[in-house]
Amino acid sequence: MNFSTAFKDPDLSRSLVERLHRELDRPLRFMEVCGTHTVAIFQSGMRPLLPAGVKHLSGPGCPVCVTHESEVAAYLQLAEKPGVIIATFGDLMRVPGPGGDNLKLAQAKGARVEIVYSAHDALKLAADNPGDTVVFLGIGFETTAPTVAATVLMARQQGLANFCVLSFHKLVPPALRALLADPDCAVDAFLLPGHVSTILGMEPYRFVADEFHTPGIIAGFDPVDILQALLIMVEQRKTGEFAIVNSYRRAVDDAGNPRAREILDTVFQTADALWRGIGCIPGSGLVFRPEFEQYDAMARLGLTLPEAGPIAGCKCGDVLKGKMQPCDCPLFAKACTPAKPVGPCMVSTEGSCAAYFKYNVEA
Ligand code: SF4
Repeated sequence: MNFSTAFKDPDLSRSLVERLHRELDRPLRFMEVCGTHTVAIFQSGMRPLLPAGVKHLSGPGCPVCVTHESEVAAYLQLAEKPGVIIATFGDLMRVPGPGGDNLKLAQAKGARVEIVYSAHDALKLAADNPGDTVVFLGIGFETTAPTVAATVLMARQQGLANFCVLSFHKLVPPALRALLADPDCAVDAFLLPGHVSTILGMEPYRFVADEFHTPGIIAGFDPVDILQALLIMVEQRKTGEFAIVNSYRRAVDDAGNPRAREILDTVFQTADALWRGIGCIPGSGLVFRPEFEQYDAMARLGLTLPEAGPIAGCKCGDVLKGKMQPCDCPLFAKACTPAKPVGPCMVSTEGSCAAYFKYNVEA
């Protein structure tokens, strides 16, 4: 068995599931805050094997899903501006804004929208189209944002003045605080995001255990990683000794990636941000520092953040807060399917509604 298959080992996974059944002595409602974990849990087939007392909640860990209706309305304003090319990750194309509009519809009406795989691709697009302004849609968490910041530094170094970014990046720890501060919070423990933690390390999560007495386990994405994390949660709740544990040491350094954080801090500063279904979370977004204003699409192109409310009937807000299972949404698998999504949680491949639909989960 090599290193990469060891964490998928069926015998080891089975023995961890058995241990979980033996050691669970009270209900455990755990939330993952990473879309990759959402999919990994379903893909592994472990969900029905877990003890009945273990309840899996999906949190606000899919960046596309948490993009607020007002933010969608803001970038749709771009589609109407002459001389603008929108560069975006493909997942955003069908994310509905107010009135059900989306980038795909805008593209069909003539807007110039290019799907890219990185911010760097958008920079190349700018270099190839010197007569146009290329706007990269900056959606993502701490994992993506440093690469966008690095691309902005490259744009400055290369003197590419026709490149800018609409920064709707979001930060995970303030969202965890907002969830835990909600008196109706139903979360007993967090499965902390492996990718985001490669940048953050352990420190920014300490308040989860210290202030809210809630276990937080940084975990990888293989079955053994996830099951081990669940066992640590069970153990902490038994002993009442709560801590943040880095259970993904093969990828995550306890200190995270200081160089990536330094690049991020050079270009961006924190600001309040809107989250779909949650509302405004203090200090949970990233905006440009004044010295990088020329790369800020919001200021440069005179965009606004229009008032916009939730899509009628869509329960994404409750799903993202762990208050409702996707299959309990009245529209799930009826009016709302991946082929014809009503809300963003059904659009993104990492959205919990899409995962429930794909893996045919009914409860
Ligand atoms: Fe929204 Fe569709 Fe999910 Fe319901 S099933 S919460 S309408 S995305």
